Amino acid sequence: HYDHIDEPSDEIRKQLKDVFGLSEFRANQLEAINATMEGKDVFLLMPTGGGKSLCFQLPAVCSNIKTQGVTVVVSPLTALMEDQVSALTSRGISAFYWSADSPQHEVNAKLWSGDRKPALLYLTPEKIKASPACRNLLLKLYNQGQLARFAIDEAHCISTWGQDFRSAYQGLGQLREDYPKVPIIALTATANQCTREDIVTQLKLRDHAFFTQSFNRPNLKYFIKAKKKKNMLPEIVEFIKKEHPNHTGVIYCLARKSCQLLAEQLQKEGLSKEEKNRLLESWKADKFHVMVATIAFGMGIDKADVRFVIHHDLPKSLSGYYQETGRAGRDGKLADCVLYYWFPDFKKICWMIDQDKEREEALTPEAKKRQKDAAREVVKYCTNISECRRVQVLRHFGQEFNQHNCKAGCDNCLDNRPPITEDVTVVATNAIDAVRSLSNKGQQITQRQLTEVLRGANSNMIQDHGFSTIEGYGTCKHISRELVDIALDRLILLEILAISLQKQKTTFSAEYLEIGSAARNFKAKGQCLQVNWRPPPVK
Ligand code: ADP
Ligand code: ZN
Repeated sequence: HYDHIDEPSDEIRKQLKDVFGLSEFRANQLEAINATMEGKDVFLLMPTGGGKSLCFQLPAVCSNIKTQGVTVVVSPLTALMEDQVSALTSRGISAFYWSADSPQHEVNAKLWSGDRKPALLYLTPEKIKASPACRNLLLKLYNQGQLARFAIDEAHCISTWGQDFRSAYQGLGQLREDYPKVPIIALTATANQCTREDIVTQLKLRDHAFFTQSFNRPNLKYFIKAKKKKNMLPEIVEFIKKEHPNHTGVIYCLARKSCQLLAEQLQKEGLSKEEKNRLLESWKADKFHVMVATIAFGMGIDKADVRFVIHHDLPKSLSGYYQETGRAGRDGKLADCVLYYWFPDFKKICWMIDQDKEREEALTPEAKKRQKDAAREVVKYCTNISECRRVQVLRHFGQEFNQHNCKAGCDNCLDNRPPITEDVTVVATNAIDAVRSLSNKGQQITQRQLTEVLRGANSNMIQDHGFSTIEGYGTCKHISRELVDIALDRLILLEILAISLQKQKTTFSAEYLEIGSAARNFKAKGQCLQVNWRPPPVK
């Protein structure tokens, strides 16, 4: 007999309020909580920031005959686990992250000492796979009927379909075999149909309840605007004055240097956590309207009436972009999301990834590649001016936007000038030749210089470097400067050209071009290069 409960029990409601300080559930939260507390397997597909954690954290603090005891949370991200554990602990919930370097006495005290079990135990998949002590504990809990449920966060890591595949996640299929009575809740923000089926199969979910929602945010308007210079604050101020006087909004910047004053102030080492919180609190309390934040800062923002989110710099990934823009319009009313795009931001992000700043452990080459690919995807999004933005964003999450065109909800649907497709293969082949012949001679060239070379300029720079004799000089005379530049950007994006960074370790300034890894293929296969653009209006 299975009773479906749609109303929250008194206990669930009480814990939501008393422990988590929240008044209402978001879409799917209550349904998922009810199902997992019923002992069912659950698959929860929700956007990042949608509130997935609550769906296993709240049941973990509710007493329930069917699923009592410890909730075991598996996550690939140690930093995220540490954050969650400290947030839970500060709410008076007993939670423990058993990390690789947890001291043994602490593990013993938390996990092996009789009745004082934590409500939530956080583990990496590697821990479950490789630690006999960990498996012993799980088995002991299981035999005592004290394993409440497994929460598999970032469940898509189990699938080789996705780019976040983690081999240790595959071992999690064993959980169902070893602890057959324990319900599983799988959570993820990125899963297309294939990945979804793969997750269900590999985790051996049985008769599970599946919850998802459209990732579309119909009240958000998406705009990509050209970023013409490093600092767009004057334009932004203009935009806010005109479109959003006295409205609440957030401006995101990539790094401390890219925004003036406030962002710098926020990011400064000297700014304590308390000061950050105080600023966030005064913003929430409407003491000032616009918050300039770095991407890392905005995590706790949950203010309903945010009317605009501006990306002053390129977001690092489409998921990040979705999450950051998603902070606008939580009240369901219209809100604007404006992204200022220019290609140098992509180069800057790649440079930051290579510098690997502000991190303790070095990124693996694969991780660097993944991060660059994520940024690459954002550039493709920004430069795809022929498809509805909503279609593009939703496709990233494996969803279709059924209307195909959101009418007035994005810049591409609003602009009635069709984009022009230009064949710029001649730029590509000559750029490759020029860079190659220069590097054979041990010379270097920047992107700006290459544009002048290809267009056959006769400037001092060309004279000084003797660039007028190199291959490709003047071959793109007939193509406008803007278009040559767009073509070169595209070549860098496609890794046909690369940027050499070894010369400047500390600042991001002059950057020389190199032949990229995809150049050989491009030439060998006789590929074409096409770009879409809207030429600037003739003055
Ligand atoms: P996800 O795991 O889906 O990325 P989180 O669980 O980290 O998202 O939640 C994102 C934010 O939403 C957190 O700040 C959380 O406190 C908040 N949140 C979750 N559920 C609710 C709710 N019902 N009401 C208000 N805020 C919520
Ligand atoms: Zn659209």
